[in-house]
Amino acid sequence: MSGLLLLVVLAGLGVALAGSVGGARRRGFRLHRRLGAFVRSVERARADDERLTDLAYQSALRNGRRVWIRFERPGRGPARVRVAVATCREVPPLRVRLEGALERLGKRLGRREDIQTGDDAFDERFFLESSRPLDGRRALGRELRRSIDEAFRRFGADGLQLRPGELGVEADLAACPPARWRELIRLLDHAAALVEVKPLRIRGLDGEREVAGDAEGRTRCVYCRDGLAGDEDDLVACERCRTAVHAECWEEHGGCPVLGCDGRAPERPRLRA
Ligand SMILES: [Zn+2]
Ligand SMILES: [Zn+2]
Repeated sequence: MSGLLLLVVLAGLGVALAGSVGGARRRGFRLHRRLGAFVRSVERARADDERLTDLAYQSALRNGRRVWIRFERPGRGPARVRVAVATCREVPPLRVRLEGALERLGKRLGRREDIQTGDDAFDERFFLESSRPLDGRRALGRELRRSIDEAFRRFGADGLQLRPGELGVEADLAACPPARWRELIRLLDHAAALVEVKPLRIRGLDGEREVAGDAEGRTRCVYCRDGLAGDEDDLVACERCRTAVHAECWEEHGGCPVLGCDGRAPERPRLRA
């Protein structure tokens, strides 16, 4: 049945700000105050499902990352909430759900492709799909897997979607009440930084290669997670997926450490002594 989800329109951002706030140091309060007001209005409207459809939230975090909260009501079912943060356009598409009977059946029939990360506990619990599995796998480092697990376990999420420009989780409103949203937004902000693949110019190679990022926006080796500046003497880049890592990390892993990439012959920078 189409139109099952009644997607609620973002109802304006006109949340009145009490006073003007200046300075980057104080801007963090803005989110909290606005979010606090929104949370209170949702709490008041919760008894009346209809009113939720008129409520939506959009703001920006201290670091400039945008945040959305909106509601969906599938048919006459319970209200659902979607909390999302903006990401850069370069993130891989990825859908995560708890692995259920339907997913297992689909897999057995060969109808669905589930990304395996190699983390058995994680792979057993979650069903992951991506139209760009190689990129999806690259993002799924330990820290992101932990963030995903936390979103489902602690915040009652039953779905997580990553697509260019947005990372969001969905949950029944009852399972993910307004009091938890601030913490959930913090988790999503952290996770969003982890999936933003960063371009980096590597000394001795033409053009840019790709590296992992972290929650603070620094560039890192996808394997050992140490910081990468691009001018180190010991870097190599995968000729297949263009990911740059430490030569030692490449050797230790026995090839490209990006999950799912079978790159074997790395590019080595031309370095002058
Ligand atoms: Zn490394
Ligand atoms: Zn590779």
